Amino acid sequence: MSLLPQHAPDTLARAADWRDQAACRETDPELFFSDVPGTVGRAVAVCDGCPVIQQCGTWALAQHIKEGVWGGLTADERRLIHRRGYKGRSRGKQGAA
Ligand code: SF4
Repeated sequence: MSLLPQHAPDTLARAADWRDQAACRETDPELFFSDVPGTVGRAVAVCDGCPVIQQCGTWALAQHIKEGVWGGLTADERRLIHRRGYKGRSRGKQGAA
């Protein structure tokens, strides 16, 4: 019989992730997925002050996330970027790379 606990505590350091710096970590997630008029602008405003806006937008485009505001881009804006031939680099409000 093992003396080790069945589920050891997670004490290993994990790699840094851009999500750790997300400005929306302290924001109600509903703001980013709301259909209420005016909320999209408020979500985009949070993104505009986010230090990882580029990483977030690039990730959302690469993952083809269909809903919500990510990287300062609305779902419609991401759809348009894809329609224009997005090939893996961020565009729009994130600045051309
Ligand atoms: S860019 Fe916007 S959605 Fe993405 S992590 Fe930052 S605040 Fe959150």
